[in-house]
Amino acid sequence: MVTGGAGFIGSHLCERLLARGDEVLCVDNFYTGSRANIESLLTHPRFELMRHDITMPLYVEVDQIYNLACPASPIHYQFDPVQTTKTSVHGAINMLGLAKRMKCRIFQASTSEVYGDPEVHPQPESYWGHVNPIGYRSCYDEGKRCAETLFFDYHRQHKVDIKVARIFNTYGPKMHPNDGRVVSNFIMQALLGRPITIYGEGLQTRSFCYVDDLVEGFMRLMDSPAGITGPINLGNPGEFTMIELAQLVIELTHSKSSLVHQPLPPDDPKQRRPDIRLAKEKLAWEPKVSLREGLTKAIPYFEQVLRQGRRATAA
Ligand code: NAD
Ligand code: UDP
Ligand code: UDP
Repeated sequence: MVTGGAGFIGSHLCERLLARGDEVLCVDNFYTGSRANIESLLTHPRFELMRHDITMPLYVEVDQIYNLACPASPIHYQFDPVQTTKTSVHGAINMLGLAKRMKCRIFQASTSEVYGDPEVHPQPESYWGHVNPIGYRSCYDEGKRCAETLFFDYHRQHKVDIKVARIFNTYGPKMHPNDGRVVSNFIMQALLGRPITIYGEGLQTRSFCYVDDLVEGFMRLMDSPAGITGPINLGNPGEFTMIELAQLVIELTHSKSSLVHQPLPPDDPKQRRPDIRLAKEKLAWEPKVSLREGLTKAIPYFEQVLRQGRRATAA
């Protein structure tokens, strides 16, 4: 079962699980996901789709749970912040209750946002983070932190077999074209010849992982020995400023877009880069796709979205 299976990362995960022969139950309330993301899977004999909100209990028979349901982009998770926290917290309780009843393994899509605006760089899993508990990003950051707490308490108290991944910024085809995330914003703006919006001075950094690399990491963690619970960082350690990202996108799209500066959103982390030594050691995993290669693979998806005029309002 994949919760959030109609979203950006979830739809790639469903595809990979089907490709290796698994039966997949995709559970999604279509809050930010879409049927288009899973359109090609709907006729697959081993694929099943269920519209359901994981803040409500769910009684199904499954043998592995990937819990990805949660809006992930700042504009989406801040649109209804109470629902965001409910999805992380009530959703985790329901999915952990299900895992406990079924005695099945459960994977949690946690996030680098648990490190907040980090004072330790790069971020190892042992770092406890620097998070504002009452800010605009808190519904997401603190929701995911509480979900991690629940995962480890169900593990200690009820012996639930858990796997917790801390995911760093990920990009690729099927990203929502106008959800405000930096990679989709910059590519759409470049393709439309509109100014590229740099928030603040653009010297803040992020590390961008191509979605195929990330999904490989998910499956390796899920299939690792029971002693490996995580939390374990999954991300690409290549670190770029937003100015560098904008320049690369302009080059690869052959765009004539200029750069414009806009105010930095509150609590925007200044730097972020995963320390992935644990994933290398425990899962023999590291990303293979560079930012240049990954953007080259992702750009045709956004061109196709524009051609089809589907969801194609530029950010
Ligand atoms: P996304 O918004 O594309 O996908 C999330 C999916 O969850 C959507 O299909 C949405 O409809 C569904 N959903 C939301 N609330 C739900 C609910 N209450 N019940 C059922 N379904 C619900 O986001 P994504 O980028 O694919 O992210 C997937 C997961 O990975 C999320 O948990 C996110 O926090 C985590 N993550 C993503 C990134 C990233 O860079 N994309 C980074 C860190 C963590
Ligand atoms: N739950 C669920 N599906 C199941 C089992 C449990 O959705 O197959 C939900 C149920 O609503 C419960 C929550 O998970 O409130 C937590 O389950 P747990 O067994 O920990 O708690 P309890 O049932 O004792 O409240
Ligand atoms: N950002 C930007 N221009 C945009 C969108 C985002 O400069 O059009 C910046 C944003 O301020 C942040 C970084 O890009 O510093 C990554 O933003 P995103 O929302 O993609 O992810 P997150 O902040 O959650 O890492």
